[in-house]
This record gives sequence, C-alpha cells and structure tokens, in this order.
Amino acid sequence: MPPVEERIETSRRLSDEAKFSTCYMCACRCGIKVHLKDGRIRYIEGNRDHPVNHGVLCAKGSAGLMNHYSPARLTQPLLRVGPRGAGVFKEIGWDEAIAIATEWLGDIRASDPKRLAFFTGRDQSQALTGWWAAQFGTPNYAAHGGFCSVNMAAAGLYTVGGSFWEFGEPDWEHTRYFMMFGVAEDHDSNPIKIGLGKLKGRGAKFVSVNPVRTGYSAIADEWLGIRPGSDGLFVLSLIHELLKADKIDLPFLARYTNAPWLVVRNPGGADDGLIARDLAGRPLCWDRTHNAAVDAASADASPVMVGEFTLANGQRAVPAFQLVAERYLDERYAPETVEREVGIAATVIRRIAAELAHAAFEQEIILQQPWTDWAGRRQETIIGRPVAMHAMRGISAHSNGFHSCRAIHLLQMLLGSIDCPGGFRYKPPFPRPIPPLVKPLGESQADRSLGGAVLGFPTGPADLLVEADGRPKRLDKAYSWEAPLAAHGLMHMVIHNAWKGDPCTIDTLFLYMANMGWNSAMNPGETLRKLTDRSADGASYRIPHFIYADAYFSETVAYADLVLPDTTYLERYDCISLLDRPISDADAAADAIRQPVVKPDRNVRPFQDVLIELGARLKLPGFVEPDGKAKFPGLYADYMVNHQRAPGIGLLAGWRGKDGEKSGVGEPNPGQLERYIANGCFWRQELAPNQRYLRHANKDYLDWAAGMGFIPKPDQIVLQVYSEVLQKFRLAATGHGPVQPPERDSERVARYFDPLPIWYRPFEQDPASGEFPLHAVTQRPMAMYHSWGSQNAWLRQIHTSNRLFVNRARAKALGLADDDWVWIESRDGRVKAQIKLMEGVNEDTVWTWNAVGKRAGAWNLDPAAPEARQGFLLNHVIAELLPPQPDGYRYANSDPITGQAAWYDLKVRLIKAEASEKRETAPRLPTLARPSGLPRPASILRYGAAFRGRREGER
Ligand code: SF4
Repeated sequence: MPPVEERIETSRRLSDEAKFSTCYMCACRCGIKVHLKDGRIRYIEGNRDHPVNHGVLCAKGSAGLMNHYSPARLTQPLLRVGPRGAGVFKEIGWDEAIAIATEWLGDIRASDPKRLAFFTGRDQSQALTGWWAAQFGTPNYAAHGGFCSVNMAAAGLYTVGGSFWEFGEPDWEHTRYFMMFGVAEDHDSNPIKIGLGKLKGRGAKFVSVNPVRTGYSAIADEWLGIRPGSDGLFVLSLIHELLKADKIDLPFLARYTNAPWLVVRNPGGADDGLIARDLAGRPLCWDRTHNAAVDAASADASPVMVGEFTLANGQRAVPAFQLVAERYLDERYAPETVEREVGIAATVIRRIAAELAHAAFEQEIILQQPWTDWAGRRQETIIGRPVAMHAMRGISAHSNGFHSCRAIHLLQMLLGSIDCPGGFRYKPPFPRPIPPLVKPLGESQADRSLGGAVLGFPTGPADLLVEADGRPKRLDKAYSWEAPLAAHGLMHMVIHNAWKGDPCTIDTLFLYMANMGWNSAMNPGETLRKLTDRSADGASYRIPHFIYADAYFSETVAYADLVLPDTTYLERYDCISLLDRPISDADAAADAIRQPVVKPDRNVRPFQDVLIELGARLKLPGFVEPDGKAKFPGLYADYMVNHQRAPGIGLLAGWRGKDGEKSGVGEPNPGQLERYIANGCFWRQELAPNQRYLRHANKDYLDWAAGMGFIPKPDQIVLQVYSEVLQKFRLAATGHGPVQPPERDSERVARYFDPLPIWYRPFEQDPASGEFPLHAVTQRPMAMYHSWGSQNAWLRQIHTSNRLFVNRARAKALGLADDDWVWIESRDGRVKAQIKLMEGVNEDTVWTWNAVGKRAGAWNLDPAAPEARQGFLLNHVIAELLPPQPDGYRYANSDPITGQAAWYDLKVRLIKAEASEKRETAPRLPTLARPSGLPRPASILRYGAAFRGRREGER
C-alpha cells in the first residue's frame, strides 16, 4: 500500500495583492500594508519599514476595514427636501451638487467672502483647506485644533518653537525619567506605546500625572492622581523646589534662552516689562566682563543672570531670570501651600523635584559628538539631561491650559532638557522662530483672496483681527481681545455665534468631517436647535445655508442642506505634509501619502477633489490658469504634485525636481507619487549625527532647515522663558500703545497676559460654590479615536456603551453603589448614566469615555443599539458660554489667551436616580431617520465568510 501523504498548507495565500498606504484610524499616521483578495480588502497589517510604527498596528488600525465597509457610509450627494433635522433628503448627482455649492459660494464671494464659515475636523488636509479658505477670501476658517489642543501648540510655539506630539517627542532612546501629563491613549498612540516599551526595557522611570489611572497611566511606575486643572500649579511647585535647591542648568539658560535678556523695570510706564534693546533693536544682556549692557546674541557675552542695572538711556532693567527666581521662590508655590489644591502631598512634590534633579544632573549624558553652535564654534560634546516630558489634552482643555503648558516648558528649560540627549526633541520642520513668522489675516473683500494665510501667530495687539472699536472681525472671535492667540480658531463657538449673529452673520456654514452637532459640540441639544432656528420672519433659517461633507452618517448630517459624501481613507489620495502636521521624528524629516487602495463602490468623491473642483469653478486664484482653465485637472493628486506654496516648495518634500533628485525644495516632479508609492507611501530624510541635537542653536541643522525652506534664515532660535509678546498685550490692557482693548476686556487681558507662567483656578471651578463638588472629565479609549471608532463593527465589541467612573471611597460617602444610575448635574443641565466604581481616579473627579454615546439612528446603528441607550455624552452638561459678566456679556468657555475649548473645567454633582426611573441614559433625542441610499445594516456581521477556505466535499 502506498504511503499516505499528508499535506498541510502552512502558509496559505490570504491575499492576491497588497498595497501600501497610511492609516487614518487615528492621527498617528502609521504605515500600513493593505491586503486585497478578489478586489476586496482582506486585512491590514503594519508596514515594517515605516518610520512611525515599524510594523506595529493597533486594534484601531487593523479594524480600519470595518470603517471602510461601514454601513454608515454615505452613498450619494443629498439635498435636503424636508425641514432641517428631519433627515429627509433627495439623492442628487454630483453635477447638481457641485452646481448648487458653486452658486451659493459664488454669490458670497462676489459680495462678501467672510459670509462663508468653513471649518473642518481632524481631516489631515489642512495644507489644502486653509489655503482654499485664503484663496476664497474668508477669514472664517479653522480646523480641529481649537477643540483639542491649541493650548499645547500655542504655548509651545510661543515658548520653545515646537510642541509636543507632532512637533516634538521624548528622546525614547536616552531618557531616564519620563513625565507624562494628561495624556489619554488617543494622542500619539503607537509611537508612545513603542516608546514606553523602550523605557521599560531600560528601567527608566515613568511618572504619569493624570486624574485617571487607565491606559498609559496604568503601566506607569508612579501615578499622580492630580486634581483636574491644577497641573500648572504642581509644575510651578516643582520649579520652586528646583530653584530653592539650586538644581537648574544655568549654562543652558544663559546660552539658549532669553533668561539673561534684560527686562525694563518701570512700573506703570509704557516700556515696563519690555525687553531692553539697543538702537538696532537687538535684545541686551548685562555682560560680566565689561560690566555693561551688550548684544545678548553676541557669542562673547558673559551674561549676568541676576541683579538690577541702569542702562545708557537711563532705563532700569533686570535679567528675565531674576523675574523667574523672584516669582517662583515665593512661598505661594511651596509644596505645603499647593498640596491641597493639586491633590498631591507636599512630600511627594518634593521627592519628584529631587528625582527630576537627580536624573537631569546626576545622570547627565555626554555624547562624544562634535557639532557647531549658532556662532560657528565647534563643540566636542553634547550634554544631555535625560528628563523628558509629554503633555496633551488633560493640560490643554482647561481655561488655564496655555499657562500650564508654558509652565511645563519652563520646567524643561530650567532643567536644560530641550532638544538634548534624553530630553524633549524637536521633529523637523521644528523648531521654528518664536513665534512662527506668519500673521493671521482678516481683511476680506469681494472677489479677493486674503493674500496670505488665514491662521497665524500675533506678536502684539497690532496683529489682532479687530475693528477700530475692538469688536472681533472673525465669526469665532479668534484673534480678538477675547482670544488673542487663537492660532486654531474657536471651533466650539462657530454655530452659536453664527446663530446669534455675534459678531457677524454668515450665509453659508461649510463643515468637513467635524461632528459639530454632536460630540464636538458643547451642549449638543441647544446646538442642534440653533441649526434649525429660523429668522424672525420665519422665511429662512438663521444660518441660511449649511453644506456638510463627511464619509459617514454622523449626527450632524441630518441638519445639512447639502451633503457631499466623502470616500473612506482607503479610496483616495491624501497628503501628510510638512506644511501641515507631518510624520517626522526627532532624527528625520518625513512626510507621507495615502493612495487609493480600492475604487469607491458608491457615488462618492474625495472631499479634496471636490474642494479643488469648487476652487476652479469659483475661479479662485491659484485654482485656475490665466485663461480660466482648471489648474489641477487631475484634482488632488495633481495638486499634491504640482501646487507650489513658494517657489520649489510644495505639499510633498520627497523626490522633488524634474527627476526626483531633490528633497525639500525643487520644481515639481511628475513622477513624484509613483516614487512615494514605490517607497511604501512615505519619504524620510535622516539628519546627520551633528544635526540632531540643540537644533535651536545648531548651525549645521539651522543651515539645513533654511535650505529645506523650514525657516527663513539660519539664525539661532532663542527659547522664551519670558514672553515679551504677552507683555505687549498686557501693556495695551493697562492703557499703553495705539491698539487697546475695549473697557470690558482690559482687566481680563491684563490679568491673564502675564509674561511668565501663572496658575489660576479654571473658570468653572470656583470653590466658593460647593454646589457642584466634582470635577468631570472625559477621554478616548485606546481602541477608539474621535467618533470614527465607535461606529466600527469590530471596535464596538470593545466599547458599546460608557459608564461614569466614580472613585469608590467617594461613591460610598455619597451613598452610591456600583452600577447605580445617577443624574450628573452641572450648572447647565443634567445627564443620566450608570456608574462604575474604581480606585484609580482622583477622589474629587468622575470621568467617562467620550464620543461613545450616539444619537439613536445615527451612524446607521440600530436605534436600540447600546450606544444610544446606555451610551451618553457629558457634552450635554457643558455650556459654550461662561456665566454673564456684570454688563451681561458672556465670554466663550475657553482659555482667555488662545480660545481653546475648556472641556475639562466642568464641575458636577451626582444625584441617585429614583428606582422608578428607566435604566437608560438621558437625554435622548428623537431617533434620526436613515437618509436615502444607506443600506439597512445586517444584524449579524459575516465579514470574512467569503474568504474562508473550502473543506473537502464542501460546496
Ligand atoms: S496608532 Fe493610529 S495610525 Fe497607528 S495603527 Fe493605530 S489607529 Fe492607525
């Protein structure tokens, strides 16, 4: 009998094709390899060669195909035919949709372009959308950052010329002590996980400062369950301790920061607090050798850091460092003074300060790496202070977030741990000049583009976008006295202000991928009412036109007049540009693309293509040739390759020049996208070892950065311990200078525009009111990002509903038990939810997962889905306005410097629900009707059944 031959298929072919692209399931932009079988997406794996994730793929990333095949995908352009909110649409073709949009937008542009309000979500194409808005001529544009983390970005850019996450990262290879402030798992997900793995492997200490111990905090070596909104005070107390112990890096401060710059002391005078300058406008320091004021940038200066001096013109001045020491050595920052407020014992604060000092100075790193400083002097070594920090929305989403973030940067500078081995490291194109040299523009004229960028960085009151009487020019009041440094706009105020007509009315609200009627709204019920509210005569809506572009049937869709359905991220080109938020790492500049992996099977179009076509139809400058023909007939892919922001500088930095031989600057290369695709859809240029550290003062790096077009010239970027920009606003508020705030804003500006970091209690946290004793915060879970993840069939299996998490001891004191139903009440409303008890949360804080709660029917989920019945949003109890001022005016619920939405200032109380009340979350808004074109979703998901191999005899 012949031997039986057993054959086992050890490595079955699962796909017949694989294409590289970039993940879009969160904002980390990992490289992916998408496997296809019979033209359908089979599975997604991480791209092992990709600089962001090195092959690592998280749950969200691998579940991307469930977003791609989501039943919530819109299928067809829609025109509203019923009342707003009823969800009654008729399907129209793209020709009609584009014609309608062109007509509405064309009328506005011909008369008053600022009557268009164009705001986008976390769309990763702001290099295009911002430019489009500027070409259209409206200043009323911003994107996601105003919701999320503008405090981090602005504080960083006004202090160290970079920021956390996309602009910088911890030196994972060298750090010995890592402090993370207020970071949930959605911010820099895979890179942080990979980095934490490295830290743990090396035995470095990881301290997490966060009211909640989940995610990263759960694996921290030490968790500090801080009171929300008090991080800035905690950091200033650490600074107090370091100054007291004389554990600061004075040589670093003298060489790389403005700590030695002389600050004029003239209380009440117009020059008080300004930097003393020579006749050429150069900052001065006091030189020890000459005992005289000299150019602070002089390489030979030997600056004195404390003392008071009389300058040649009679001005009295002190080094900025002296102001730092005077302020933070004060006992009001002593650990014993602050411990109650921050919820961390004085002994712990003192120990953490000592540990920071030990890591920075006793574990100093000396790299034997020659480099050249800004003055052209060769240095043989690089000193590293192996203390790194990372912070995110937990710091940012408070009305004191800007100063808290500046306090963290001050701490980093005092320790000498900016862009050194083991410290915080910039990602190119950062560092940038402080602040970046782009001013916001707001002069809108019929048929004209703005002639520059919409968003920018004011350097003083003269740069504000205000009328002669101080009223804001922009709809969201960004760059007004209410939020002077609002570098990302005030997204959360757009619908309210448009409805109220304050400070102006608009004609068309144009939103892209921003669920601003639901989880991106403060008080969504009221926000939706504003979208449906009619003018006094009832003839039209108060916001007359509303165009919404999205790939999915989010809660906002039903309120739009015209719906432009987008593709999924696997069906289009995208550009992760150095002009926007690139994927660079500390050692290299990098950018990336997405390519269409499959063709859309619905009547949808990439929004970027639509925007470019609208630009051409509207004949916007830059979108048409002189003869009026479309400049980018190949739409976004064409634009990505051929658009030049400045000569030789385009959206993609790799393979520029006719033959692709240039990087950074070079003429467009027709074969550029092919080169990206052949390289796994990314480009990366590594820095030479002598360019990698102290880049704010590293000549070889600065020369390279100027050559790449990242900075205008290779000058030293002096880190700003003391912010003269803030002082200029304060002087205006105290009656100096030609541009001064209206009376109502003066005191507020004078109080908050302190040139050194300050701490104040967040606006909603008045301790005199014991009515609402608990802080309430939210975060996104590791498995989800924004609202995108919570409609994903696979990810929904991890979180289908959310509980309110309550500290166990506190719950007991309140008479609450696990699984109880409660009303969460704030000054602005109430929400019903079920609680879950836990130990790992600050005693005075409750929290929940954000954006899990869905409106019934939305996202094409079953109206009885747990997301609608057991899920809830805290947004319902957050108001977009603060309580009235004495004159009745209500400021936005925002940081007074940047306008950042103060989501986490919320205070609540818990009231146990009656036994007779329904065990369902509330409020519940009426079920949304399924718009036409959306399929009825299958009740059982059978994805993958078609891929299953056949057994012998099976048909
Ligand atoms: S971390 Fe973000 S970008 Fe990376 S795989 Fe996960 S979801 Fe995708």
